[in-house]
Amino acid sequence: MAWLIVSGIVLLAAVLAVILWARQLAKHSFRCKACAKEFRVSWRRLIFTTHSYDEYSLRCPHCGSKGCTEQNVPGA
Ligand SMILES: [Zn+2]
Repeated sequence: MAWLIVSGIVLLAAVLAVILWARQLAKHSFRCKACAKEFRVSWRRLIFTTHSYDEYSLRCPHCGSKGCTEQNVPGA
């Protein structure tokens, strides 16, 4: 039964890593590729967001189009 405990710990660590990553990412703002407006999202939404390279499949609250890039906020 040791494998069950090990996989449980690994799964827990993976979940924790994703939450920490999302919380860190939520400090940044995102720029819409369609209308170039900036907006922020909560970390809970970021957990379920897929991304490739620098593009996140977030829906823009201004124009409703999908596809945003991460903006680094200095001092955030
Ligand atoms: Zn937009």
